[in-house]
Amino acid sequence: MQPTQPTIVWFRNDLRLADNPALHAAHQDGRDVICLYILEEGVNGQRALGGAAKWWLHQSLTSLANAVAKLGGKLVLRRGDPKTILPKLVDETGAQRVVWNRRYGQPERDLDGQIKTDLKARQIDVESYNGSLLTEPWTIKTKTGGYYRVYTPYWKSVRASYRPEPAAPVPDTLGGSGIASDTLSEWELQPASPNWASAFPDVWTPGEVGASARLEAFLDGPVSDYNDHRNRPDIAMSTSGLSPHLKWGEIGPAQIWRAVTDRLHQTGTAINDGSAWTFLSEIVWREFSYVLLFHHPDLADTNYNGDFAHMPWRDSTADYEAWCRGQTGYPIVDAGMRQLWTTGWMHNRVRMITASFLTKHLLLPWQMGEDWFWDTLVDADPASNAASWQWVAGSGADAAPYFRVFNPITQGEKFDETGDYVRRWRPELAKLPTKNLFSPWTAPKAVLESAGITLGETYPLPIVDHKSGRERALDAYNTLKERRSAA
Ligand code: FAD
Repeated sequence: MQPTQPTIVWFRNDLRLADNPALHAAHQDGRDVICLYILEEGVNGQRALGGAAKWWLHQSLTSLANAVAKLGGKLVLRRGDPKTILPKLVDETGAQRVVWNRRYGQPERDLDGQIKTDLKARQIDVESYNGSLLTEPWTIKTKTGGYYRVYTPYWKSVRASYRPEPAAPVPDTLGGSGIASDTLSEWELQPASPNWASAFPDVWTPGEVGASARLEAFLDGPVSDYNDHRNRPDIAMSTSGLSPHLKWGEIGPAQIWRAVTDRLHQTGTAINDGSAWTFLSEIVWREFSYVLLFHHPDLADTNYNGDFAHMPWRDSTADYEAWCRGQTGYPIVDAGMRQLWTTGWMHNRVRMITASFLTKHLLLPWQMGEDWFWDTLVDADPASNAASWQWVAGSGADAAPYFRVFNPITQGEKFDETGDYVRRWRPELAKLPTKNLFSPWTAPKAVLESAGITLGETYPLPIVDHKSGRERALDAYNTLKERRSAA
């Protein structure tokens, strides 16, 4: 053992100590472990973090730094280009080994590959691990050796073949004290004035402890109703709310898989089998998105289905802004956009409705919506966000057909059955009877008056008529079909 030759663990999207393969590997050979996080800020062609993601990162690093300190160590913070920071830290500390968990976007893969080569040329050992997926995007293949483009067979294959490794334990001691570090506050990740994230702490507890607590709370009850409730934004904890924790790696999918299947195998468990497997199948949607991103690195800005390059999208800043601000006049859409702005998160059903509204009723390019979500979601994820937007827009792999246009009135009536969701996020509509809540313009004048609503003043009139918006979208789509058949 050479205590003077420590190992550097470069944390990225794996901000946890438990079941962290790279950290575990570093700790196993008995050398000092230095925990490092680098704020990369869009260097080397990487996409810059959105505002809500930065807020989360600040809290998550605070939590990780505290956990590292409890084990006698220090989380070293550096800002800039990892290509220069890592060799510098190696020189400063005499480290002989650098380890990390892999990431799957093209710029990150290129960067990590280059750093690996550079460090190896200096006789430094470099190892990488899988810390954020059940199975890496190149492992599960179709019978013909390709990658899966359709989700259901992919899920079946994962379910049949995936068996998690035993969990890696948390190290008992960590090093790094005495090494120079930035302070988190100097990175200014949190909004100051205006503090648009002021309500985020009411909803979220970023960090590993918060992630485990949320999983336990979900498995202690709500998971059993997942099949019945998961499309219901009006029901509290109808879904797990684990997405930002997963995005930042405060919990890994393998930990979730083990926790769910352990409960299923416990005798006398109250957990509902069908719901539990549906929940795991959603975790695998995340995996599938990574398969798509890995094989289509430009998934976030380029149509998976090249035909959509000819889609006659509209160009309307006014409509886009109305959508972003939740001023479309469709309460379920506007409630979703307000939930997003206020909490940094939106229920999946409402993500689908709002995304459909942007790409169909407003006929605006899905990339504009992907961009807004990227900036405002605490779980903004390079794979899931891009794949989901393309799925809704109809341009993706295994996508919903473009002609499936969500009706923002009936979707509200069906999935926000009680109206509680719209009433919570659009309190200006709270006094409307549920039968008018999703289409306020249909309410009789007297009903609007007694609810204190003046359309066009206290709440907008619809910016597009549902029927004509739908027809415009279908006409646009038909031009693609005609083009294809003429080709
Ligand atoms: P649960 O229902 O509890 O599901 C558990 C986990 O499974 C989630 O945390 C998530 O990691 C994964 N998951 C569930 N549904 C999906 C899905 N459709 N695709 C991929 N993974 C899924 N998810 C993100 O994590 N980041 C994003 O940036 C993102 N952008 C989206 C954009 C659009 C337009 C749409 C329609 C969906 C998007 N999703 C995204 C997927 C999904 O909406 C969220 O993962 C889900 O709402 C998170 O809530 P939850 O943790 O309570 O989910």
